[in-house]
Amino acid sequence: MGKSRCWAPVTTKDGWQRQCRKVPPAGTHYCEEHHQLYVKKTDTYKKATLEMEALDEAFVRLGDTYVEGLGQEDLVHVAEISRAYLDCLERAVRGREEHHRRFFTQVDSAHLEYLEVLKYRLENAFAFLYRIESREMELSDKGLGW
Ligand SMILES: [Zn+2]
Repeated sequence: MGKSRCWAPVTTKDGWQRQCRKVPPAGTHYCEEHHQLYVKKTDTYKKATLEMEALDEAFVRLGDTYVEGLGQEDLVHVAEISRAYLDCLERAVRGREEHHRRFFTQVDSAHLEYLEVLKYRLENAFAFLYRIESREMELSDKGLGW
């Protein structure tokens, strides 16, 4: 067995990717610096995921809403939840992708599957928000007396 090296890819000044040359502490995969970064990036997407999960139920409950028939007040409420949900979801997806790119040369399938689930939810959330925004425009047009 050769000496183990930190698993993290690093980008050189010329823009090349190479493996970090530092030696990780025994029993770990990353050197001190990359371990810190790993933990920080993991925390970022885990936090976003938790925030998203906390809103998921509320968002799913909105799923059957006939957005096109909502009045101003209800629309504001629905839009608020949907935008917050979408924001967390986007951060969760972005954070995961960045983390995978940064630290995994090969991403395990469980990670990829979860990412697919998140992206599917993201598509749904975008579609729902599109309806909300159309309704918002419609109402503001009416407000202007058109
Ligand atoms: Zn390293």
